[in-house]
Amino acid sequence: MPLGEFALIERYFRAAGASRGDVPVGVGDDGAILRPPPGFDLVAVSDTLVEGVHFPKASAPRSIGHRALAVNLSDIAAMGATPAWALLSLTLPSVDDGWLAEFSAGLGALARMHEVALVGGDTTRGPLTLGVQVMGFVPQGEGLRRSGGRVGDLLCVSGTPGDAAAGLAIVQRGLADARSADLAAALATLQARFEYPTPRLALGARLRAVASACIDVSDGLYGDASKLAAASSCAVHIDPQRLPRSAALAAAVSAGVFTDAEAAGFTAAGGDDYELLFTLPPAALASLQGELARGEITVIGALASGAGLWLMAQGVPQPVTPGGFDHFG
Ligand code: ADP
Ligand code: MG
Repeated sequence: MPLGEFALIERYFRAAGASRGDVPVGVGDDGAILRPPPGFDLVAVSDTLVEGVHFPKASAPRSIGHRALAVNLSDIAAMGATPAWALLSLTLPSVDDGWLAEFSAGLGALARMHEVALVGGDTTRGPLTLGVQVMGFVPQGEGLRRSGGRVGDLLCVSGTPGDAAAGLAIVQRGLADARSADLAAALATLQARFEYPTPRLALGARLRAVASACIDVSDGLYGDASKLAAASSCAVHIDPQRLPRSAALAAAVSAGVFTDAEAAGFTAAGGDDYELLFTLPPAALASLQGELARGEITVIGALASGAGLWLMAQGVPQPVTPGGFDHFG
């Protein structure tokens, strides 16, 4: 490698994240020494991105850096926790300074935005793979789980799932060259939802007080709703008519870039949105909605007795098998 491993870590990673007072020893020793605050539970998550599996080959390195951290922060958000520390396991085919500068800028900007310190990692040579671990805190006993949902709880989702899958399709099919400025802006918005997802950390922390169960939407809305329902020993009923669609995705459908059925498929089964899907008792909805921006969350269904995923059709639930993305399916 033209740049030694040590110099590479010094240049691109030692100062990439936030600096925090609860890191007595960070990058540079055999291990990091971290000091969790008393009265909190530690929440630990890990997610790996592999080139060609989780992002297309030749993706912008800034986006890869952002996503490698964002997917982990989304898991932290789904637990109702606040992130603090991250580790980065970086496998690179070669040392490319331009690539590393952009990658570390993408990861570092998101880390600093959420006051996450990069406290260590590992650097090896091989096919491009980004493994990230994040640790955060939640007041003792208050972490959100998938398993707390009860029959009769409402099912809500943040944002507009489907945008990221549409954005990935735009990249993969080379659709970004659009006919009008308005359409180009809509397609760019969708592409950005794939390349720069927003982990819903503030919402996750707010949900600790009200949500009975929570999961983040990484593998597709219907599949992840099915996981939440199974963990909660309930059935889940979703009304497809209530699924939110963004203005950008609606514009792409109007312009004929995607069919309506394709867009509905993105929303139901596309992955990579990193929105929060959660349940709450009906009585808790009004005050929560009062605090949030309009459209920040949408009620899309409810938990019911039984098992599995059911879609409402003319007011009658019909059973379906989930179409979530399964790496081994
Ligand atoms: P060791 O051989 O003892 O495992 P390394 O040489 O792999 O140590 O790492 C030296 C230091 O640099 C350690 O503190 C490690 O956590 C950190 N480090 C290595 N790779 C990265 C990386 N990609 N990002 C952040 N820190 C890293
Ligand atoms: Mg060592």
